[in-house]
Amino acid sequence: MVDKKKNLRSLSSQQIIDFFESIDQPKFRANQVDQWLWQKQVKTFEEMTNLPLPVREALDQHFVINELTIAEEQVSDDGTVKCAIRLHDGMVVEAVLIPAKDRMTACISSQVGCSLTCAFCATGRLKRMRNLEPDEIFDQVVAIKLMAETHFNKPLTNIVYMGMGEPLLNYKNVLTSIYRITHDMGLGMAAKRITVSTAGIDKMIQKLAEDEVRFRLALSLHAANDVKRSEIMPINDQNTLDSLAKSLQLFHQKTKNRVTFEYIIFKDFNDTIQDAKELVAFCKKVPGRVNIIEYNPIDDGRFEQADPDKVDAFAGYLEKNGVTVNIRRSRGKDIDAACGQLANKNEVSVA
Ligand code: SF4
Repeated sequence: MVDKKKNLRSLSSQQIIDFFESIDQPKFRANQVDQWLWQKQVKTFEEMTNLPLPVREALDQHFVINELTIAEEQVSDDGTVKCAIRLHDGMVVEAVLIPAKDRMTACISSQVGCSLTCAFCATGRLKRMRNLEPDEIFDQVVAIKLMAETHFNKPLTNIVYMGMGEPLLNYKNVLTSIYRITHDMGLGMAAKRITVSTAGIDKMIQKLAEDEVRFRLALSLHAANDVKRSEIMPINDQNTLDSLAKSLQLFHQKTKNRVTFEYIIFKDFNDTIQDAKELVAFCKKVPGRVNIIEYNPIDDGRFEQADPDKVDAFAGYLEKNGVTVNIRRSRGKDIDAACGQLANKNEVSVA
């Protein structure tokens, strides 16, 4: 059942001030509450011990603090931890901890399901149910941070918005969550440690540029040729490579950030030297670097992993032509690590 009380963390600081004024309490109470909610991450009003009891009771009467729970946790042989996360209304999203020698990365979701239908993606099979609220995005980071600390005894160093959903179609909530993650009165993480990954929505990339955001941007490119890209990413029909290049140039100009181009390499689809040539040409238009990602097949068998020799030749060609390139081996192969696979099993619906 959906609770009728308002989720306190969906209120802005100003709205919390207004609430306190309405019950004749000083403004600074809002600051105290902000600190409990976002810095100390308490989940009950009882724990807000520097608030007088009647104030805690008033908060309890009007508000709830929504919580998420870990519905399932899978640990891969390579250390990747994938979680199915159940939200307060029973819906499920995914969050992943990706450990590496020099970093601990949280990969988090921004929507329940996704409205875009990228052909290679398990989440694309789940229709978009709703946007995540800022606190639901924030809490995924907190959950994965805790896992990094308990499983590996290391701090969380990076966050990627690369789980379920298209972050730029939940623009406001994604930016609010980043505000909370980076703020001193939150997790205090550096913005440059955060990467938002988009399938490529021109207007919203332009908005990021105008807002002069400080976090990093990644574009899921996967083909530097409109025909091929539209075949696997229908969003490319309205957001062609030319228009994306223009929006990304503006982004670079305003933020001075280099964009990362994510390129999942599929066998016999985008793994030839001709594909690499097209990618080099695209990279000449927008300053950026390329991450070549080994494909993690989903169940339908439409795409397969490219041969390692071809991947090396592809990367070698890019390097020879002055493009900075990284090869990302697929993580969590023995678990359901492709985006959307675990939530598919836990049903993205009210349980
Ligand atoms: S790849 Fe991203 S944008 Fe595309 S369907 Fe999957 S979740 Fe949505």
